[in-house]
Amino acid sequence: MDLHAELALLRDLGYTHLDLGSARQQAAAIQGGSELPHSEETIDELGRIAMACTKCRLAGTRTQVVYGVGNPNADLMFVGEAPGRDEDLQGEPFVGRAGQLLTDIIKAMKLTRDDVYIANVIKCRPPENRNPEPDELEACRPFIRRQIALIKPRVIVTLGKFALQSLLEKSYSITAARGNWLEYDGIKVMPTFHPAYLLRTPAAKKEVWQDMKKVMAELGIQF
Ligand code: URA
Repeated sequence: MDLHAELALLRDLGYTHLDLGSARQQAAAIQGGSELPHSEETIDELGRIAMACTKCRLAGTRTQVVYGVGNPNADLMFVGEAPGRDEDLQGEPFVGRAGQLLTDIIKAMKLTRDDVYIANVIKCRPPENRNPEPDELEACRPFIRRQIALIKPRVIVTLGKFALQSLLEKSYSITAARGNWLEYDGIKVMPTFHPAYLLRTPAAKKEVWQDMKKVMAELGIQF
């Protein structure tokens, strides 16, 4: 498509101006505040901003930013904690052992990874997989918030304590909260255990399955 035709298409799509700021400039703008500067960006544009982020110390030790993957129009979104070693190397969330278990859970729900959207509250790997620090969670929170605002899922499943606490900004006990519907920005939230916990404690899988059945019922999936 030549430039004239492309501009005409954009006009017909309702664009009234073009934002020519670079991803790096936008990332720099984020560093100054807690919210993202643009309200019209797409999930890919937001991803390019994330790739350039240096807002916290994890930028200095990451191999890759692990932004998110899946269907940008998903009804169901899984929100985890932070990338581990495999995710840091591959640039995709939940691809290691815990990720394989999450993939199995998604399949058991009669869905695929391409049907859902998967992201973490922290986009860069904490060294040696240590717990994320409060200032790192705060620095990264605008990204998961914007991802949710752009994807507009019907249901969010939070995986483990850090995802739940960081998204809802409240110090829930995961044991007490799991299995009970909560709400984020008008969207139903089902907290459940993290798949890494299930690898250590397989007996807890039955509780997670109970939680996922509630999610399936909410989405109208037969089980
Ligand atoms: N654990 C997480 O919380 N997220 C990942 O992407 C991988 C492991």
